[in-house]
Amino acid sequence: MTMTKNNFRVFIYTLLILFAGSCKISDKPVVDATETDVAVVDDLVLKDSVPAQQPPVFYQPKDYKESRIQKNDIIHTKLDVSFDWAKQHLLGIATLEVKPYFYPQNSLLLDAKGFDIHEVVLLNNGTNTNLEYEYDNLKLDIALDKEYTRNEKFTIQIKYTAKPNEMEVGGSAAITSDKGLYFINPLGEELNKPRQIWTQGETESSSKWFPTIDAPNQRCTQEMYITVDEKLTTLSNGVLVYSKLNGDGTKTDYWKMELPHAPYLFMMAIGEFAIVKDKWGDIDVDYYVEPAYEKYARSIFGNTPEMMTFFSELLNYPYPWPKYAQVVVRDYVSGAMENTSASIFMEQLQVTDQELIDTHWDYIIAHELFHQWFGNLVTTESWSNLPLNESFANYSEYLWNEYKYGKDEADYHALEEAQQYLKEAESKQVDLIRFYYNDKEDMFDSHSYSKGGRILHMLRKYVGDDAFFKSLEHYLKKNEFSSVEVHNLRLAFEEITGEDLNWFFNQWFLAAGHPILDVSHQYLDGKVILEVSQKQDTSKFPVYSLPLYVDIYVDGRKERFAVKVDKPYQVLEFQVGAKPSLVVFDAEHQLLAEINHEKDLEELAFQYNNSTAFLARNEALQTLSENIYASNNNTIVAKALDDPFWGLRQLAVNAFENYEGDNLQVVEQKLISMALQDKKSVVRADAIGTLSSIDSTRHADIYKKGMEDPSLVVIGASLYAYGKTNEKDKDQVFGKFEKVNNVNVIVPIANYYLESQQFDKADWFIARMEHLKGADLYYMLQYLGQLALAAPPEVQTKTADVFHDYAINNDLYYVRLAAFQGLVLLEDVAGVEQMIQKVMSREKNPQLLQYYQNMTQ
Ligand SMILES: [Zn+2]
Repeated sequence: MTMTKNNFRVFIYTLLILFAGSCKISDKPVVDATETDVAVVDDLVLKDSVPAQQPPVFYQPKDYKESRIQKNDIIHTKLDVSFDWAKQHLLGIATLEVKPYFYPQNSLLLDAKGFDIHEVVLLNNGTNTNLEYEYDNLKLDIALDKEYTRNEKFTIQIKYTAKPNEMEVGGSAAITSDKGLYFINPLGEELNKPRQIWTQGETESSSKWFPTIDAPNQRCTQEMYITVDEKLTTLSNGVLVYSKLNGDGTKTDYWKMELPHAPYLFMMAIGEFAIVKDKWGDIDVDYYVEPAYEKYARSIFGNTPEMMTFFSELLNYPYPWPKYAQVVVRDYVSGAMENTSASIFMEQLQVTDQELIDTHWDYIIAHELFHQWFGNLVTTESWSNLPLNESFANYSEYLWNEYKYGKDEADYHALEEAQQYLKEAESKQVDLIRFYYNDKEDMFDSHSYSKGGRILHMLRKYVGDDAFFKSLEHYLKKNEFSSVEVHNLRLAFEEITGEDLNWFFNQWFLAAGHPILDVSHQYLDGKVILEVSQKQDTSKFPVYSLPLYVDIYVDGRKERFAVKVDKPYQVLEFQVGAKPSLVVFDAEHQLLAEINHEKDLEELAFQYNNSTAFLARNEALQTLSENIYASNNNTIVAKALDDPFWGLRQLAVNAFENYEGDNLQVVEQKLISMALQDKKSVVRADAIGTLSSIDSTRHADIYKKGMEDPSLVVIGASLYAYGKTNEKDKDQVFGKFEKVNNVNVIVPIANYYLESQQFDKADWFIARMEHLKGADLYYMLQYLGQLALAAPPEVQTKTADVFHDYAINNDLYYVRLAAFQGLVLLEDVAGVEQMIQKVMSREKNPQLLQYYQNMTQ
């Protein structure tokens, strides 16, 4: 699953932190506290008070999260489902083939959340026997007709109605609920929004739409009979065997998955989708998008077959499932989800070819695809071991970037991942594999994703590429269609390499923290003396064992030394011919660590000029940019304007923001040519921004040319810069872009209308918003609120009506939040106080309501 990875989420999260203050709002699904809470008497009391003669009391520490105990094993799940759109109900018949896992069983305990149970029968050669059961709205406890041994199968059929909207929202700090089954625009009342049904199983929400043993260590084969309006398209796991018209305006689609997989990976998506067909060998690769995006689907998803080839060859394990479909849905609760053979993505992936100039979605497409091996074929046995799914999916983004776009691009991505983990580490440092957590949703953090991905990279660097990928192949083949814990991974690597790897796994997978290294070097008597101190708190975190490389540059020649840092304080000595121009600690830039190795500007200039690795050039250029007025650093940063890697050109461009030092004219000329010609659109856009920052009144002609650029990011930057000039035709120029539906263009226009206090443009804001969704809508509501604040009364009244409408009717909590904030800004306007009260009386989300109450007190 991709949750933390997309910028959109990060953006929303950041905004919510800004606006919500201490109010806890997150985008993670709500979890049933009742399900994972282990009601155990205080373990210390229990332990000490049990007399020695009593039988042993098996207890577990209070928060230990064990894997689900396996009493019964579901072998096959057959579902027959239809829908009541008005009530948002699923009408289902589930037929489960089950056998005891090992010990004989006379009952079957299923997860079934928020159902009406109509009938539970045992099917036995045509005779149906009603079975007794107890149901508490979360668990269905079925008494079997006799005791079954592990060699006996039995088949249970359950008729039920699933009512995901009628479950109480749990007590988590999350906002988006974990409903499992979602009806989007069920009555077709919302304009510009399709009617859809889709599911989201992870972590344990599949049991909100079918009865199952909802745990990742369970797996079964699957059949789905989905009956819907014949105009709608369905998607589920496995292959579509047939689609049959029922003669009453409905059809039944029959989907079949003959390979076993875990219940959290079951899925359905239903809606009016265009299907764009692709192939990987004999395997169907389909892209399901809204009809308006049919012509762009291949541009968005078109690298999928090449990725399937790349990953299949890398792992020496062909893509395991009978097809691969990718579907984009509305109002998705996360970034994407790797349902087996049918991944779901958020609507932000639906972009035009023009928008694809500025961005692509390969990382998320690779992530969900790699899960088809790591997660779906080989599955974590418990949420404690979630990094066995997510760290691999995260690392696939590196692998794909490295293969497709080159090492610089991959390392650029890796740097962002490391920073994401280090940011999180400021407030949270926990074991990567952790058996103690409050809520299973807490596992979906930058530890499981970013840190895990970086750890796999270090493991690859240590064992070497050949051993790394051979070990992964071995791990997959040995554990296919089964559940794993972290030791399975270690053993696979040990079996291939012949080396005990506990030291690596213990310090990285099973402990918290990361190395914090103070490094210094000096040259003395023909030797480089390198001092390394591990500064992390070693009472809480490991003293790390770190195999790495040191590069020493002497007389223009680089020599590489393999070393091992494994003590709290260590001195390393290297024989060299003369005083070195540069010493690079961790020359492969593989460590996930905070490294403080002070170098002077001269050394950094040498490092920039002589390194091939992006991370080395980047490290040097960062510091040189921060000191752009020192010595002749501006000439080195100016040289970086021609760096072969766009990320460094962009860094250099931004280093000249507000620049007023030497060589200004030369720099400006270079920025002008970059604004018009750089290969990368964000670099062109930033060159325009930097030019404008140096002197906002000049270069209007360049900005006008920028408005003809194919890239919307460049057009947006040009508009923004043009708005700051003193040109007389600004209203006319901005007017030409009023109809563009892209946030990069809309925001500078909104900004200009706000700054020039053009209250009559309130209608433009309102009209634009009808075409926007999600974060873009959030932006516009904020701008409109600011504009309305100083506007004439009739504009304020009109705006308040719009805010009122969004605050009540939008499905996305952060859009409702922005609209509510707009109303509060206008609270002195006649009638708005009543609107605020009405919004608060209608808001069903407890966290949001609490926030509203705090805000209006
Ligand atoms: Zn994932």
